[in-house]
Amino acid sequence: MPAVAYLNKHGVPLAQPSPMFSSRFPVLCLHRDHLQRALYGACLDPASGPPVEFLPGVSVERYEADPNKGVRVYLSNNTCLESDVLVAADGIHSTIRRQFVEHVTSKHCGYVYFRATLNVEEHSVGLAPFSSAFESWGDGQRFGYVPLQAPDVFWFASIPAAEQTGPDGMATSIIDEATKQHLLRLFEGWSGQAQDGAQIVNLQRLILSSPASSILRTPIRKVPDVEKFPWQGNRGRVILLGDSAHAVAPNLAQGAGLAIEDALVLATNLSRVVRGEASLEAAARYYELARKPRAKTVQSMADLVATVGHIRGPLALARNYFMLASHKLAPTVQSLIFERAVSMSLGGDSNNLYWSPPVPKGTVDAEALTRALERSCLLGRVLGATFSELPSHVRKFRAASEGEGVGIVSVE
Ligand SMILES: Cc1cc2nc3c(=O)[nH]c(=O)nc-3n(C[C@H](O)[C@H](O)[C@H](O)COP(=O)(O)OP(=O)(O)OC[C@H]3O[C@@H](n4cnc5c(N)ncnc54)[C@H](O)[C@@H]3O)c2cc1C
Repeated sequence: MPAVAYLNKHGVPLAQPSPMFSSRFPVLCLHRDHLQRALYGACLDPASGPPVEFLPGVSVERYEADPNKGVRVYLSNNTCLESDVLVAADGIHSTIRRQFVEHVTSKHCGYVYFRATLNVEEHSVGLAPFSSAFESWGDGQRFGYVPLQAPDVFWFASIPAAEQTGPDGMATSIIDEATKQHLLRLFEGWSGQAQDGAQIVNLQRLILSSPASSILRTPIRKVPDVEKFPWQGNRGRVILLGDSAHAVAPNLAQGAGLAIEDALVLATNLSRVVRGEASLEAAARYYELARKPRAKTVQSMADLVATVGHIRGPLALARNYFMLASHKLAPTVQSLIFERAVSMSLGGDSNNLYWSPPVPKGTVDAEALTRALERSCLLGRVLGATFSELPSHVRKFRAASEGEGVGIVSVE
């Protein structure tokens, strides 16, 4: 992702990170369809491990768990599966969550997203696909633009609105021509800007170029207070993962990322059970403890972005004035605060800029990896054992098997 910026509706930056943002935060934006195909392909690949069985068109109706024996999962095709553990990744309206924490339900956040992907080579919108990533704030509305794999880009518009289901009763619906005209009116005169400030894009053209049949409308919901209810029950036999545990508003584009992180942390803990190093109950509890603060941080920050971005009237003017002034008067301080916030939202801490997966014991020997890295690059050969003390983003960049990048490393 190119350096992301917050702009006013005329394309003027209100907050911006340093030009080094992309190299410091190597965020990959990809279309959901590409991700799902990659995951599906890996599940079918015999080299990935034991085969995964898919049951299309079948849903889980309920479960029975015995802490000492295992779980029985009852399916809509009148069959029952028996297992040691049930990992429920069944989304924001999770059937399994409702069975063991009945009182937890999702809540409408008070706004609606309209979104589409667009091939910007076919539809000239005046912006090279990879030249920019931004979110623009107006008087109550937000508009976002993110490049995917070129030439596709993703845009969204977030508008305060009551919840409303589509004609088929589904939460997400395809919009009609009248709604598209309404969007065009709302964003009349809005502009975005390329990272170097050179190209200006008329945001209306993005909407105009997207057929109504490609624009989705989704009322935004979340699972509130994600840290306040159990994510696992029956002594670790039933475990929630992804949106079923912690659906967050999409304002930081992190929901699916959180689900993937959950899976890595859970897998690492379950492998400890398999090796006899931990009980199932302890592993599930550890997973829950490790993941709750991370999900809570993303939820709070995502809610904050929506609150500030949806401000209307004189307060919106005051917000823009304050942000613009800090951008002009103290750009370095502002970009430091900006990057600190991004780092927090990506799971960074005092040692790391962003979240990194746990290294499963037995699969990767971290010391051997560091030793190999020491030998594989100039910095490693010069620094020897102290190579491991470099910031993790520098080490990771060296670890990439291919690719290129530009950056500055000061080694004292
Ligand atoms: C408008 C919008 C934009 C978003 N943008 C981003 C973004 O840019 N980046 C990002 O990382 N995240 C984004 N998200 C969030 C992301 O979509 C979710 O966090 C992510 O899909 C969660 O994955 P999941 O597997 O936990 O749940 P889901 O993707 O909801 O998958 C749950 C699955 O379980 C199935 N299921 C449900 N009930 C049952 C049952 N009883 N039996 C069997 N199967 C069942 C469903 O059919 C579904 O396939 C966005 C969300 C929205 C609404």
